[in-house]
Amino acid sequence: MGSYKTYRNLVTGGAGFLGSHLVDRLMEKGEEVICLDNYITGCKENINQWIGNSRFELIRHDVTVPIQLEVDRIWHLACPASPIHYQYNPIKTAKTSFLGTYNMLGMARRVGARLLLASTSEVYGDPEVHPQPETYKGSVNPIGIRSCYDEGKRIAETLCFDYLRMHSTEIRVIRIFNTYGPKMLPNDGRVVSNFIVQALRGEPLTIYGDGSQTRSFCYVDDLIEGMVRLMNGNHNGPINIGDPKEFTILELAEMIKERINPKLELIRKPLPSDDPMQRKPMIKLAQEELNWEPKVRLEEGLDPTIEWFRKIISRNS
Ligand code: NAD
Ligand code: UDP
Repeated sequence: MGSYKTYRNLVTGGAGFLGSHLVDRLMEKGEEVICLDNYITGCKENINQWIGNSRFELIRHDVTVPIQLEVDRIWHLACPASPIHYQYNPIKTAKTSFLGTYNMLGMARRVGARLLLASTSEVYGDPEVHPQPETYKGSVNPIGIRSCYDEGKRIAETLCFDYLRMHSTEIRVIRIFNTYGPKMLPNDGRVVSNFIVQALRGEPLTIYGDGSQTRSFCYVDDLIEGMVRLMNGNHNGPINIGDPKEFTILELAEMIKERINPKLELIRKPLPSDDPMQRKPMIKLAQEELNWEPKVRLEEGLDPTIEWFRKIISRNS
């Protein structure tokens, strides 16, 4: 029988969209998991199935406040990710990124844990280089409405590499590009969930600007696979994980309409300031270092996502 080492894992933001998928993955592997969350954008239902399992613990806590836990691995995901949520209280978002990461790195150093930071493609801002390789240093507005998040994640990455240089703390930095899938909240505000929820309710789809801006959408299962490979491997990052297939927002709207109701209208809303015009990851490093690439095409990943929202909406109505 192969010897598989099980770890005691801390997942911050474990009740959120990505965090809860990661918790599922670790629990299914037979590992121990402490899920820490303040529920600002997460919900208990996402991790309900594990409550009562002896390998699972749930802690209501805010990462801006120090905490001491004996763990081997820290998956640091706590931070609101949707623009409407992180802009709701931008000072809190900046505190979560800086103080939260600082507290988790301090804990990692004290207990000798390996820490993975969930960073973002937003560190590239509104990119002038396309597609974006990890070596691109970004084009970020330091004083705009997205800055609390973009600059917050940039300083969080800085802290990780300074802990590595000063204290040899084991770090892993993943730059996540737009990810979608089941367990997103209906009021999440990001484009995939907005369009699906609007379409299921028979409402017009809200296109910000002229819809020519692009994004690349990664299915959640692929993303979690990349994250786990990074944590388990030797490359400390930063590393892009995302789907390199690029779509305009109008193309996405058409795909969702086609699946739910082709007759729906599109309505225009103003483009929020600093909204990046294009985004697409270069994933050569992930292919080489992690032997990773996305498997689920947007055409396939939309169906289970739509089914998830259909269930949630019919239950709530
Ligand atoms: P989410 O909002 O669904 O989850 C974030 C979780 O963190 C929530 O459960 C929330 O309650 C918790 N949280 C927030 N602030 C906290 C605090 N101060 N203390 C404790 N818990 C706190 O978002 P998500 O999509 O699951 O994103 C998870 C991580 O991945 C975030 O760090 C985000 O920046 C990063 N990321 C996500 C995407 C994406 O497309 N989903 C893209 C890039 C980066
Ligand atoms: N967007 C849109 N309609 C919506 C929500 C978002 O047109 O109802 C656009 C938004 O302006 C952006 C893109 O979709 O250009 C992706 O937005 P999201 O908030 O999902 O993520 P991010 O901008 O952080 O990549």
